[in-house]
Amino acid sequence: MTGIEFRERSSPNHDSRGEPPNMRPVDMLVLHYTGMQSAAAAIDRLCEPEARVSAHYVVEEDGTVWRLVAEEQRAFHAGVSCWEGEQNLNRLSIGVEVVNPGHEWGYRPFPEAQMAAVERLCREVLSRHPIPPYRVVGHSDIAPDRKSDPGELFDWPRLARAGIGLWPPPAPGLARRRGRGVGLVQHAAGLADLARIGYCVAPGTEEVALAAFQRRFRPERWDGLLDGETCARLAELRMAVEAAQAVEEMRRRSRWN
Ligand SMILES: [Zn+2]
Repeated sequence: MTGIEFRERSSPNHDSRGEPPNMRPVDMLVLHYTGMQSAAAAIDRLCEPEARVSAHYVVEEDGTVWRLVAEEQRAFHAGVSCWEGEQNLNRLSIGVEVVNPGHEWGYRPFPEAQMAAVERLCREVLSRHPIPPYRVVGHSDIAPDRKSDPGELFDWPRLARAGIGLWPPPAPGLARRRGRGVGLVQHAAGLADLARIGYCVAPGTEEVALAAFQRRFRPERWDGLLDGETCARLAELRMAVEAAQAVEEMRRRSRWN
């Protein structure tokens, strides 16, 4: 372990990731906000046996990083969740709680010291596990009907610049599509892109899934409506996911050959 000085507190709210052959490597990183009035209250709760919730790490607003659960163990952070058609994501993921009162208690910007610590921590996690960029997600991405964390103020572009997750630039070829209305064909294509990116979309849940996508990738407005801008952003993300998957595939092949 390099670089980061952790403060340690042990949460009992974890169990085993399973035994081979059923055990899969960690290949997801899930970011949250704590959504409580103080860091101390959040950490207490994440360590309270009755609460049955935890995370591997908590990052305070001043950049202090707490380790509550070892990465080898399964922490209870994602709850009922789904990504790329797969459920029970705790067994596959590392969970990081970023301290913020959240939408219920006064949502506020994440300070620089905190984001710098989140960035360092995520880079270390990514150096230890084969987590592709399209599997770095927010809690609201994998539980859009229940969760809105880490929320629209979270600085995903900054993390992407550090190699953590995806943040494609606007594609020049899509400039004209942005301001346009959305017909049936574009609507269907937009929903297909949403699923291709990884969002689990069932009939009746399109709007919450779209709102989660917007909160993360078009944070100016997250109304769940599939407008021209959202369609263009979906296409950009879908292309970025496909490009990253092609790179993964090449890496996998070169490992075998
Ligand atoms: Zn969460």
